[in-house]
Amino acid sequence: MRPSLLNPLFAAVTSLPGVGPKQDKLLRYLLGRDETPRLVDLLLHLPSQVIDRRARPKIRDAAPGTMVTLEVTIDRHRPPPPRNARAPYLVYASDDTGDVVLTFFRAKPGYVEKLLPMGEKRYVSGTLQMYDGIPQIVHPDRVLDAISKLSGIDPVYPLTEGLAIGSLRRAIAQALSKLPALPEWISPDVLRRCHFPPIAEALNRVHQPVELTDILPDQPFWSRLAFDELLAGQLALALIRARLRRPAGVRNAGDGHLRNEIIDALPYALTPSQRGAAAAIADDLNQPVRMLRLLQGDVGSGKTVVALLAAAAVAEVGKQAALMAPTEILARQHIKTIAPLAERAGMRVAILTGREKGKERREIIAQLAAGEIDLLVGTHALIQDDVTFHDLALAVVDEQHRFGVRERLALTSKGEAVDVLVLSATPIPRTLVLTYFGDMDISELREKPTGRQPIDTRAVAMTRLGEVMDGVGRALQSGKLVYWICPLVEESEAEGTEHLTNATKRFESLQKRFGDRVGLVHGQMKGTEKDRVMGQFAGHEIGLLVATTVVEVGVDVPAATIMVIENAERFGLAQLHQLRGRIGRGSEASTCILLYSEPLGEMSKARLKVIRETTDGFRIAEEDLKLRGEGDVLGVRQSGLPGYRIARPEVHGQLITQARDEALRIMKDDPKLKGERGEALRCLLYLYERDEAIPLIGAG
Ligand code: ADP
Ligand code: MG
Repeated sequence: MRPSLLNPLFAAVTSLPGVGPKQDKLLRYLLGRDETPRLVDLLLHLPSQVIDRRARPKIRDAAPGTMVTLEVTIDRHRPPPPRNARAPYLVYASDDTGDVVLTFFRAKPGYVEKLLPMGEKRYVSGTLQMYDGIPQIVHPDRVLDAISKLSGIDPVYPLTEGLAIGSLRRAIAQALSKLPALPEWISPDVLRRCHFPPIAEALNRVHQPVELTDILPDQPFWSRLAFDELLAGQLALALIRARLRRPAGVRNAGDGHLRNEIIDALPYALTPSQRGAAAAIADDLNQPVRMLRLLQGDVGSGKTVVALLAAAAVAEVGKQAALMAPTEILARQHIKTIAPLAERAGMRVAILTGREKGKERREIIAQLAAGEIDLLVGTHALIQDDVTFHDLALAVVDEQHRFGVRERLALTSKGEAVDVLVLSATPIPRTLVLTYFGDMDISELREKPTGRQPIDTRAVAMTRLGEVMDGVGRALQSGKLVYWICPLVEESEAEGTEHLTNATKRFESLQKRFGDRVGLVHGQMKGTEKDRVMGQFAGHEIGLLVATTVVEVGVDVPAATIMVIENAERFGLAQLHQLRGRIGRGSEASTCILLYSEPLGEMSKARLKVIRETTDGFRIAEEDLKLRGEGDVLGVRQSGLPGYRIARPEVHGQLITQARDEALRIMKDDPKLKGERGEALRCLLYLYERDEAIPLIGAG
């Protein structure tokens, strides 16, 4: 139960005067909620900028183009002439140094007269402009009769179309006034070390800034809120993890007989890091604490076989495993690699995606429930409600960054204390790992399987398309397999990107030149159709595959050695790295051509440079974070941490580790959250909606 202390904050925004159904709808959209937002949602919606109204010059000294607050006397009104309603309503005002015109377009009758009565003194705040040599303020933001009513600095919030800044500010101010006295949940130690103000002060100062810097994310007020949010997240993860222990003596890995058979059947030897990862996983599977392990390795480093060995370990004790992949192509690819190896060892595997329907699907589900399937590979289809396992012990989630926390939990909730193995081809920065999973063990596949050739990567301007085409023609002549990647399928997919090459168009033009050796796959094709084309490509029936990013994850055609990426400047670093990982997988040398359109922005230039210089995914991930951090400075929008509203990885990276440490200390000192601080921490969990962990405490 939520502490009653917090109730005022969880009241609906519609309980505030002036917030009706229309605002409700807009606020839902703005705050990303399916239901009516609560006051707490308003309070955690932080400003992005401020307007400084503190400059109070005389009219003579007011600089054009700046925000000023003038103290004026109203001299004269000039309403629009009766026949010209489009003309503005002008108000002439002055101080002892000069005149200013206050201009209102389409003013409601009576509005201006009431706002600026003749002969009275008013404080008028807005951006001053010169018009025909006369100072003018068009639609002043503020008109007040007493300076004490003016807030010197106004917060500016991210908005949504139709929502006025004024009404959002008023709603937030009202929410602030309902803030109850909250207990302190941060330890005195951390408060001191980080110079955090109390939460009430933090909220007040970001929403009603006193200094221009008060709203900056790296300042104490915002940082305090970010720390709260991170601590709530870390504590919830720690509580969940602490409760998910296996009963003593339960082991999820067997004697190794299946694993040995699989290893014997492999056409290659495992690399040392594959062996190391498999051993670490087997060890985890036998611990009384649930496994939470991230297996990171560049594309092509051989994660699938490690995942298969994990599943085999589980099958050895008669339990089940699931492998969830983000796309249908990838799921099928997995089953293709896995099935022959697994079957030779007597493991029963099956696939379940959106494509398995009707009787086929019913049979798979029945076998799964009866324990007749050892490893089920699939897509999101795995987390549908009617998919039940006999005894799910291991969930492997491939390409984790494609899945939300919710999907991962949905899969693991299909068994008891399910062990989790996450596969990622883009090394996830430590800070992100912490926010997603709390403490998580990490295995890395550092070396590539032997015999791989380096990839020669070049950036080529679009103006040289002809040469690139010629090169592709020569490659096709000599029997090579070529990917041609285009950013979007249809022009309508994203507004303002009409100039991006359309995969279909490119396919047509390439087909004109190279005939039926060209194929096309994109995300909007049916699964079976995609498979057919991919199959033709893998079987050398076609030599040139035009594709959108559907090939990004996991697709394995080792014979493909050339990749052209069109509009490469549009892709993110991680994505370019993933794409390029589709080549260089066989024993032949590979080439990647990054086709770019000029002019190149600074960010794009930097990205293309990194991708040309290295194929080390770990380095690329680091550079990516660095660039994105800088991107923020350059004004590129930052997407933030998934599931977090306030904390930002590039600003609060330090705080993430501190919050983790604090959560671990709490788990050590007071794992049941008893006593005064415990109560305060429960408040924190509710406030940031991480209370899903609270019932677990009670059960202990
Ligand atoms: P990823 O880590 O990108 O998922 P995969 O598991 O798809 O990589 O493996 C890529 C390719 O490398 C597959 O064809 C697989 O059979 C092969 N492979 C995996 N491990 C080894 C190894 N130790 N030696 C040689 N080839 C390997
Ligand atoms: Mg893979």
